[in-house]
Amino acid sequence: MRDIPHWIAGEAAEGRSGRSADVFDPATGEIQARVALANEEEVNAAVVAARSAFESWRSTPLSARAEVMFRFRGLLEARREELARAVTAEHGKVLADAAGEVARGIENVEYACGVPNLLKGGFSEMASKGVDVYSMRQPVGVAAGITPFNFPVMVPLWMCANAIACGNSFVLKPSERDPSASILLAELFAEAGLPAGVFNVVQGDGDAAAALIAHPDVSAVSFVGSTPIARRVYESGAQQGKRVQALGGAKNHMVVLPDAELDVAADAAVSAAYGSAGERCMAISVLVAVGDIADDLATAIRSRIEKLRVGPGTESGAEMGPLITAEHRDRVASYVELAKSEGATVVVDGREQRFEGSGFFLGASLIDHVKPEMRVYRDEIFGPVLSVVRAESFDEAIGLVNTNEYANGCTIFTRDGGAAQRFQSQVECGMVGINVPIPVPVAYYSFGGWRSSLFGDSHIYGPEGIQFYTRSKVVTSRWPDPATSRVDLGFPQNR
Ligand code: NAD
Repeated sequence: MRDIPHWIAGEAAEGRSGRSADVFDPATGEIQARVALANEEEVNAAVVAARSAFESWRSTPLSARAEVMFRFRGLLEARREELARAVTAEHGKVLADAAGEVARGIENVEYACGVPNLLKGGFSEMASKGVDVYSMRQPVGVAAGITPFNFPVMVPLWMCANAIACGNSFVLKPSERDPSASILLAELFAEAGLPAGVFNVVQGDGDAAAALIAHPDVSAVSFVGSTPIARRVYESGAQQGKRVQALGGAKNHMVVLPDAELDVAADAAVSAAYGSAGERCMAISVLVAVGDIADDLATAIRSRIEKLRVGPGTESGAEMGPLITAEHRDRVASYVELAKSEGATVVVDGREQRFEGSGFFLGASLIDHVKPEMRVYRDEIFGPVLSVVRAESFDEAIGLVNTNEYANGCTIFTRDGGAAQRFQSQVECGMVGINVPIPVPVAYYSFGGWRSSLFGDSHIYGPEGIQFYTRSKVVTSRWPDPATSRVDLGFPQNR
């Protein structure tokens, strides 16, 4: 049985807590490895390593830090297939999805390569007579990242690329469900020449995460995961005076107006709802069909589901893989039954699809005539279940999006520019798509939702990531007038 270690002070460190968790292959249901679960002592060792590496790393010139990031980027690029395979092996998503995740992660490293430019401050000459004022941004110290199972390469890179480029050291606590990718990232950082201790990994569960958040030498916490835990992480970090960005769950709506191109909207709905088995925080889980397009849209989606190929992520042609665990699959499946009992219409029941073996597979489900008071509408299901809500008007559709508990992403499909413009202006949501089903911002913008999808005031990566991982300092300076200076500056009046 393979044991997945921590990574502390530049090398792999075997777990010593005596606790470990099984890591499954979701496509077969078999246990393929064991991951160490860190105790407080091991978390402390990682933070001590990070803290002692910090002073020298923050004094490393910007150009040298950028060079490390460029080399890291090159190594990620060269090993992208290996990374994608590691993701598929433990998460289960199909290889093309995993490769997409790696590519989106690399974009964040590319952004961080520009750190000399990103950390430029402001300068005001002569704010007063002889007085100059200027600002600079400095690293915060040790930053911690706690990440979810659904993007084991991309989400850590959302955080650590900018944090490290800004001169911080970093401790990652990845998801215990798919922990191997974190060790690959650590090895590539080391190969890129990142000094030991600047990037560390502690494997573990909620206990390790809590110890990391509580550690007095951790100054900043980035968290991505479910809403109840995000809320708790934010509250406990903030109570200890730390800066925290805690991204939570989602219930993303796709509004389809009657003038939308039916096939385009149906294709988009299917890929955004069922891609990665719906285990994406930007997955579409509610389709709001406005006016008379609803019946045709539901029919078009149903016919596409019938052709959807569900199978192991490594199988050529597979479009949707298994869910992360058997328990999660059963929980997702229970929502189909619940929807039926709440009075919705189950158009496609994913539980009816049969799979060989013991993998954590579940077919795609489509539920129509869903009402806002139903649990299938309100809860984050995080699986391949798409609900269709029928709205009479554009305003009713906007009202649904704006009163939902979550506000991560939403999108509109229409050919009407005026309607799209009203949507982008009136919708209360962090990330908005216009004829784009999954509007994840590029790396030079920032990612984040509103309401229960984000606790804290900083979105993640991009410009807000740079701000989050640095503190600003403003210097007000006065120098003697050269005419009265006692030092010979070479001015004629001093001669
Ligand atoms: P999760 O909340 O169960 O776990 C996330 C991380 O928190 C893991 O590393 C886990 O070990 C750790 N954790 C568990 N208990 C903890 C505790 N008490 N204190 C601190 N940390 C604790 O989430 P998950 O199941 O791994 O991921 C799926 C969830 O993540 C979904 O809700 C999804 O919407 C959300 N997500 C959000 C975004 C976003 O950007 N908003 C992105 C990806 C995933």
